[in-house]
Parts: sequence; C-alpha cells; structure tokens
Amino acid sequence: MEKIYGGKAIRLLGVSIALCLLTWGCSRQPAPSPDPSLPRPLPVDTQTPSPGSEPSGEKDPSGDAQTSTGGESPGKENAPEGTFGPQDAYPIPETLSSEEAVEYFYYEPLSQELKDAITGVSYPADAADLIVTYEDLVHLHILHYDFEGKPARGELICNRAIAQDLAEIFYELYQNAYPIEKVRLIDAYGGNDELSMEDNNTSCFNYRVVEGTSHLSNHAYGLAVDINPLYNPYITYDKDHNPHVSPAGGEAYADRSADFPYKIDREDLCYQLFTRHGFTWGGSWHSSQDYQHFQMTP
Ligand SMILES: [Zn+2]
Repeated sequence: MEKIYGGKAIRLLGVSIALCLLTWGCSRQPAPSPDPSLPRPLPVDTQTPSPGSEPSGEKDPSGDAQTSTGGESPGKENAPEGTFGPQDAYPIPETLSSEEAVEYFYYEPLSQELKDAITGVSYPADAADLIVTYEDLVHLHILHYDFEGKPARGELICNRAIAQDLAEIFYELYQNAYPIEKVRLIDAYGGNDELSMEDNNTSCFNYRVVEGTSHLSNHAYGLAVDINPLYNPYITYDKDHNPHVSPAGGEAYADRSADFPYKIDREDLCYQLFTRHGFTWGGSWHSSQDYQHFQMTP
C-alpha cells in the first residue's frame, strides 16, 4: 500500500475520521470499557492519495501534519514539548466528543528543543553512522485511557514512515477505551529501556541494540512500539532453555496461558490493530517472545 508521509496525512486522518463518524453515527463516544471483540473499520488507509496528488495552494511548508483540521487546535495547546514530566501537567477537558478527541492525535517534526533534549539520551550524541536522522523521526501526540479509566495525553517519537499508522491505531485504541498505563518518551527514563519497562511505559523510538546482542533494535529506527511492557514481557532463553524475563517484575506475567489484565494475545484489540496495519508481533516469534512488541521492518 502506498503511503503519504506528513503533508496532509493527519488532515486526511481528520477528514476520514469525520467521514467514518458520519457513517457510524456522530454521537459515538469512548466506550466505558474496552471491547476487543468489536474491531471497527479503520479510518484513512484506502482514502490516502498518492504523494504528489495533494491539491495545490495548501502546501504545509514543514512537510508534516500539524493538526487534524488546520490551525491551532485545543489538542496542541499546551501540549508537552520536549519536557518529560507527568502528562497530567497538561490537562485535557473532562468530556471530549469524538470530533474533539481527533484534535489530540497529531504529529510534527522534532522541534529544536526536543532534538536538544533527546540527544545523548535516546538519540546518540555521536552522529557518525547513524541509521536514522532527526528528519526521519516525528513527535507523535495521542490520547489514551490510563489504568484508572481516565483519558490522558501521551507522546512518542517514531519514524515518520509509521506515524500515520500509529495515529490511527492509537485513535482506535482510545475510542475503544483500551487501557494503556502511560505513554512517555523514553528520555523520561534516561533512555533506559529496563526502567521504562519496569514502569510499564509504552514507548517507541530509542537508539539501542537488542538486549543481549550487538545489533540495533527496530526501536533504533523508530519502527517498533512496546505496549504495556510490564504485563507483556520479553522472554528469552539460555542454551539450557531456561527463560529470562524482562523487565524485572514481569515474571508474574510470563505464563501467557494465565488470565490477567492488560495481556496482549491474538484476541486483543492491540494485536488486531497493529497486525492489520502490517506490523508483526514479537509474541509470535519462536526463539524468544516479546509480547509487548510490534514492529515494521525497515
Ligand atoms: Zn520492543
């Protein structure tokens, strides 16, 4: 499938979501509890025009989407910007219609402030031989339902190649009140994946190698996302087939036949949305299992 990167992408998301809302009924509100048994049709995708076909006169000079409807949106006002503090420092209205919520899902180029903040943390200070540049990455803003059932802001840095997919996926998760505890930049944890996972933080970009190896993770491309990682740990095996569970504290959730909340399996809405968008799931791997992990191949 051909994709459009930046430009009118989010605006198209807004338009297509509006179309979908018209189709599904304008009164659709976030469900009080997740219902993974009800996959919904996804916005955009089939309506995304090929690059170069956008109408003239509306070219966004930044080359990236700003908001879903153009202009300053309530979602962008006071949005986190290179600050890694608690998301509740940026309150959102207590009640949001579906149309209003769309405004909180957008992505933009990394600001200079954000570049400065992540360099030497999630982004290497030594810029030699990097597999990504700042321009390959975007700052994605979303809403999600936290574990208290309250809407909260979230932010990720991801490769622009998957920004539109992630905006759509997280929008669908939000509309289904799918619980995600927190979505903060991994820089809030000093770029330390173990600390981020232990805190059950959902994140994407981090320029790092795969744990226990010397090769770069797809997170280094900004092409992989870890969802609720404490409840969906990464399990590797030594040569004697003894399991090692990461993060610490995730051992209780290593038995995937057990029943517990926030578990990602093939029935889970998260799994269904990511795989529908072409991501592969680490829970399907053979030599190790990474239940939190969804990735697109570079
Ligand atoms: Zn991962």
